[in-house]
Amino acid sequence: MELNELTIHELKDKLNKKECTVPDIVNSYLKKIKEAEPKVDAYLTILEDEAMQEAKAMQEKLEKGEEKGNLFGIPIAIKDAICTKGVRTTSASKILENFISPYDATVMEKLHNEGAIMIGKTNMDEFAMGSSTEHSAYKTTKNPWDLSRIPGGSSGGSAAAVSAGMAPCALGSDTGGSIRQPASLCGIVGMKPTYGLVSRYGLIAYASSFDQIGPFTRDVEDLAILLNAISGHDDKDTTSVNREDEDYTKALVKDVKDIKIGVPKEFFEKGINEEVRDTVLKAAKKYEKLGAKVEECSFKVADYSLATYYIIACAEASSNLGRFDGIRYGYRTKEFKDLKELFKKTRQEGFGDEVKRRIFLGTCVLSSGYNDAYYVKAQKVRNLLRQEFAKQFENYDFLLTPTSPTTAFKIGEKMENPLEMYLADICTVPVNVAGVPALSIPCGYSKEGLPIGMQLIGNYFSESKMIRTAYTYEQNTDWHNMHPNI
Ligand code: GLN
Repeated sequence: MELNELTIHELKDKLNKKECTVPDIVNSYLKKIKEAEPKVDAYLTILEDEAMQEAKAMQEKLEKGEEKGNLFGIPIAIKDAICTKGVRTTSASKILENFISPYDATVMEKLHNEGAIMIGKTNMDEFAMGSSTEHSAYKTTKNPWDLSRIPGGSSGGSAAAVSAGMAPCALGSDTGGSIRQPASLCGIVGMKPTYGLVSRYGLIAYASSFDQIGPFTRDVEDLAILLNAISGHDDKDTTSVNREDEDYTKALVKDVKDIKIGVPKEFFEKGINEEVRDTVLKAAKKYEKLGAKVEECSFKVADYSLATYYIIACAEASSNLGRFDGIRYGYRTKEFKDLKELFKKTRQEGFGDEVKRRIFLGTCVLSSGYNDAYYVKAQKVRNLLRQEFAKQFENYDFLLTPTSPTTAFKIGEKMENPLEMYLADICTVPVNVAGVPALSIPCGYSKEGLPIGMQLIGNYFSESKMIRTAYTYEQNTDWHNMHPNI
């Protein structure tokens, strides 16, 4: 087996036993990037020289016995929405084409402290708005399982990089499903942690009350390792929660006998592809066999969550994106006669269609006359959704649903119809609206050989128990051992 086919914990093991060096590891990923990247287009920036230099420095430390950190010598790919000091950070937008971040996001500082090596910045939908990575201003990432299909989005580059063996792990951000949905469509593990568990400092904002950074990995053990590295209180983020750090690797135990799982029927009805439904229901049966208590339940307000999400997300986006004006960051139009025209032309030329659509929608729902009817109403429904989750978690530890209503769709298939594209998030957005955590793990393959993922949704800060529940399923199945031929 090549080094680039291993998990974080396997790589750590090899390093410990001196069966390989840090430069061997980085080299192996760079080699795979050379082979697969021309087909997959997962990266916007590849840090070949920087990563190799760091690897050599790390190896010296290792030989001197100075190695530190739980991700020592492990390469990682970073979504281009996360600020990385001295490295181009574009959020896949033309408006940030030449933006070199002057500082590191908190998660980047944490990764450096643990000894991780950033290998590149990954492609995404512009400003994380989308479900397919087709809304990038630069390129469309392809699904490593079938290059004619999308990898999901908006963190599609991160998911495709891990799935194709071009990184052992990656970070993404999830505002309405952008980690879980691409993880599901690429056959890997992805988690959106509880809102506030991971600092958002240095994450380019889309919808601040939903955004959350989270990990992509090849298995659940790696997920625990990476979550340990990035979670924790941060003074620089006022929404960061101040609670004692947990060691998520302690949850890597195979036992679900005390776990109660609800299967909300509304998540299996209209719009859900039959193969996806059957596969996820099979996983529910598997949980039963493993000793969990599983029963069907009903999630009342599911129907309203998509509208609620898009109203609030667009409202917040229209405000967050006000800062891109040609003065402070990145792109500036070449010719303008006054300040107003500078703003106007910069934004006209710098933003893509989907971003403009969201700014427009957000501005509408916040404008006087519409504010009460849309924005305020959506906030009320948001509360109902929170209450509905709270009610579910009185009875169940987790809700089990499909992550995505379909397997990966064809490139171009939904580009002409934004509403169709928005429906790709039907199973994931309620989670962000309430702020609870959820993860996606592989649970099967379609007849065409495309990955299918299931979603576990839990109560606030239930990550440890969620990791245990996912780990138990994973260790009793083989899906995590399947990789695309790329
Ligand atoms: N697809 C959803 C949207 O476009 C979610 C995106 C995300 O989670 N960043 O808003």
